[in-house]
Amino acid sequence: QEWPAPLVRKTFLQYFADRQHEIVSSASVVPHNDATLLFANAGMNQFKPIFLGTVGATEAFASMKRAVDTQKCIRAGGKHNDLDDVGKDSYHHTFFEMLGNWSFGDYFKKETIEFSWELLTKVFKLDPDRLYVTYFEGDKDLGLEADLEAKELWMAVGVAEDHILPGDIKDNFWEMGETGPCGPCSEIHFDRIGGRNAASLVNQDDPNVLEIWNNVFMQFDRQKDRSLKVLPARHIDTGMGFERLVSILQDKTSNYATDVFTPLFAKIHEVTQARPYTDKYGKDDTDGIDTAYRVIADHVRLLTFAISDGAVPNNEGRGYVVRRVLRRGSRYARKYFNADIGNFFSRILPALVEQMGEQFPEIVRMQSEVAEILDEEEAQFARTLDNGEKMFERFATRAIKSGTNRLTGDEVWRLYDTYGFPEDLTKIMADERSIGYNDEEIEIARLKAREASKSTKEGVIAFAKLDVHQIAELNKSEVPPTIDDAKYT
Ligand code: ATP
Ligand code: MG
Ligand code: MG
Ligand code: MG
Repeated sequence: QEWPAPLVRKTFLQYFADRQHEIVSSASVVPHNDATLLFANAGMNQFKPIFLGTVGATEAFASMKRAVDTQKCIRAGGKHNDLDDVGKDSYHHTFFEMLGNWSFGDYFKKETIEFSWELLTKVFKLDPDRLYVTYFEGDKDLGLEADLEAKELWMAVGVAEDHILPGDIKDNFWEMGETGPCGPCSEIHFDRIGGRNAASLVNQDDPNVLEIWNNVFMQFDRQKDRSLKVLPARHIDTGMGFERLVSILQDKTSNYATDVFTPLFAKIHEVTQARPYTDKYGKDDTDGIDTAYRVIADHVRLLTFAISDGAVPNNEGRGYVVRRVLRRGSRYARKYFNADIGNFFSRILPALVEQMGEQFPEIVRMQSEVAEILDEEEAQFARTLDNGEKMFERFATRAIKSGTNRLTGDEVWRLYDTYGFPEDLTKIMADERSIGYNDEEIEIARLKAREASKSTKEGVIAFAKLDVHQIAELNKSEVPPTIDDAKYT
């Protein structure tokens, strides 16, 4: 059977709808009612109050016991941050859809494990030999036992024992953020190649053995003091990467080779007249063009959905993520596609709206506003891009000539402060030239600049003499600066 992306989404929703799950809409990717969360980073965000048992929360989803949806997610800052991988690998995006099913105090481990296995192997007909599952191995510090129940349940549905692996707190205890709902989880991984024992490649960042679905057994609320409070009821929360599932069902080795991304590549090709996309990575992508295609296709999705849901580019928190992503993308467009910056993303936008507008009508409704905001922001960046690149060249030349081969923290800061080059953009440029930088030094430069903007000259001089640890002490009592997203998860 052929699996075009829209059919994959529909099949997932229908499978759970047939099992008494209510199909709910994706929440806004901008969590307007949760000031601790930068962007929706998982399907469960909108259900957080139900898990916590917060009074009044149940009204919104009154009497709902089971739900299913596809949630718009952004992971480009905060606790779950994949921005630096995007463009480089074949399966992390800054914006993606997370398919999920939920039980609110209704069914628990047994049923969710049965559902996931049946859906993947009977409906989507994935080969069980290619699937590996994991369970939580327990944690002494948290006082939690290994989740042998999950292991047995996987065996009961027919998973071979050597395809069931224990995992530690990093991979098998899911947390939304620094605080909030959490619990042990059990994940499903897929081996794209087969004909081998891939168990040792699970959770090793191997693009051919990738995580597809996480089943979280919600039981705790992480407190500020790091302790775990038991929730009033136990819930099921699952999340499956839509683009990853599509890539597997379409038998591709990369999310970017699927019909989720090909219409965007076609549009980028049309607008830039660059050579077509060939899905090469790392050193194989000799001219860097495939990487640039990926970055731009990914970023136009983030920009469109974030702006449609009300996050406009500015200098703090959510808005700064949007700005950073737009600047990062614009620079790729200019460097690799020789594109004019000022209305680049708005020319790619129609392809995205056409492709995803049916599932997410908000981007149709907001299309002209999004285009306007993108153009305005791009034009503003275009005005300083030339000078900023010249300044970067000067710093780079100095670094090479002096033999340090490294940008100083002050230089990185100046590029941000004077030319609006976000730190991650400067780092990309430095990486392209094999020039180093030191994160601690950049941090000192940033703190120094902040101090300078609010204190006397003497204060600045004294401050400049502090080392990073002294500065960290000083900083403890302070509100985080606006350009980072430290206050968000
Ligand atoms: P990974 O280990 O691959 O980074 P994760 O463990 O961070 O994934 P979860 O928090 O468990 O991911 O989220 C549930 C599912 O969402 C994952 O199993 C994966 O399929 C998908 N997913 C997570 N991050 C991304 C991303 N950046 N782009 C696309 N899909 C993602
Ligand atoms: Mg991750
Ligand atoms: Mg993982
Ligand atoms: Mg995971």
